[in-house]
Amino acid sequence: MKECKECPWRVINKHNETIVEFSKRTDKAHNCHMTKNGGEKLWEVDEETKCRGRLNYEKKNSHLI
Ligand SMILES: [Zn+2]
Repeated sequence: MKECKECPWRVINKHNETIVEFSKRTDKAHNCHMTKNGGEKLWEVDEETKCRGRLNYEKKNSHLI
């Protein structure tokens, strides 16, 4: 699975910044936007639809966890 087109970790705008900041602050993963779980269920992570941008962030920072 590739990053979604509108991945908040890649496409910077006010709405996406809010998601990324919240995700970092609470250390919570979320689903990718363009999936069926991207709307109201954004924070009910399903491994299948987990945001790739967030995954990459976790990989990059895994030495910190
Ligand atoms: Zn994404």
